[in-house]
Amino acid sequence: MNLMPVAQALDHLLTSASAESPPDTETLRLEAVLGRVLAKPLHSAQDVPPWDNSAMDGYALHAADIAAANQTGLPVSQRITAGMAPQPLARGTCARIFTGAPMPRGADTVEMQENVTLDPQGLVHFTRILKQGQNVRPQGQDIRKGSILFKPGLKLRPQDLGLIASVGLATVEVYKPLRIAVLSTGDELVEPGHELGPGQIFNSNRYTLIGCLQRLGQQVIDAGILEDDPEATRKRLQSLAGRADVIITSGGVSVGEADFLGETLRDHGELTMWKLAIKPGKPFTLARFAGTPVLGLPGNPAAVLVTFLLLVRPYLLRRLGVQEVNPVMLQVASGFDWIRAGNRDEYLRARLEEGHVVLAGNQSSGVLSSASEASGLVCIPSGTVVSKGETLPFLPFEGLFD
Ligand code: AMP
Ligand code: MG
Repeated sequence: MNLMPVAQALDHLLTSASAESPPDTETLRLEAVLGRVLAKPLHSAQDVPPWDNSAMDGYALHAADIAAANQTGLPVSQRITAGMAPQPLARGTCARIFTGAPMPRGADTVEMQENVTLDPQGLVHFTRILKQGQNVRPQGQDIRKGSILFKPGLKLRPQDLGLIASVGLATVEVYKPLRIAVLSTGDELVEPGHELGPGQIFNSNRYTLIGCLQRLGQQVIDAGILEDDPEATRKRLQSLAGRADVIITSGGVSVGEADFLGETLRDHGELTMWKLAIKPGKPFTLARFAGTPVLGLPGNPAAVLVTFLLLVRPYLLRRLGVQEVNPVMLQVASGFDWIRAGNRDEYLRARLEEGHVVLAGNQSSGVLSSASEASGLVCIPSGTVVSKGETLPFLPFEGLFD
């Protein structure tokens, strides 16, 4: 069987995510929506700033009085601090004004206080040539009334919340988190905190997956451990399908005799994609069971991390209408040689050292310690050899977890 190229698999995943109906929406206060995805476009009902204001602590004047100001100086007719409503500015005078205070009607120019001198009569002398409009922040400079602030599908960041607040909106409509069932398959699995029996290992994938989902702000349905048994597999999938938007599994999708998950999805569900040209992660599976999408991850712990970040994350974000799902990718000089070209895109656990990307220890798909030593993944495309100094795509974990 041919392996599907990663780009094609991703395309397929994104298309199938777009075809699902999005989650319900809810309207929440601004302080509760960080990381949530905007469900409706946001318009501004007002100009920001709402009026012309001073960008400096200084003196506001009429442009028409600039010539006089430069020669004889101007008397101060009012003092305007932020939060005040000023009087119109009398011709032939200036106003003491502070940063963020509204410009008085008539005034259109501000000189900063460092550039003026006051004489004993209290006249302000402007020591530099003034330019009409200088140091004034015009009404609507940041946002125009009626303009679109954000389109739907934006994953809200702190600065976005600030911008929404600046137009006076206290609530926004966002998608509810996806309900995601996490199921670990394998007779050998034991939860941490218990004793290991013969042949058993601790369930680590569950924690990697729940952590990834929590970072993405989604709702986890913890489905525990599933034994390697076809009947149990079918029953468990059936019960999860009714209450999850997506089922994410680990293990059981290879070609071994105890890989009942793949078998069950094939025989009782709909298997749409299996076996990708990615290392680690070849057995990655996309299927549907009783109407619910199932993303079947391999069992090996490093493969779980890699396939979640590269395939599951963009799928889930697209389910929420997020358009920009590609992770941040840096081009970094390789600090190592790679002499054997592979037939799969290889994602190696790596970190940056002195401007180079170096490998973070053992790259076996069963080894997780190198993932903890790494700060991201470096990609070696299939069919490629690499010499030290050549550039490679490096994906920092920071860009992969949000
Ligand atoms: P499988 O794809 O089910 O054959 O699993 C591949 C490898 O991953 C085996 O060595 C499993 O023991 C291991 N594995 C599967 N699930 C987990 C898990 N939840 N935590 C840690 N290792 C696992
Ligand atoms: Mg297994």
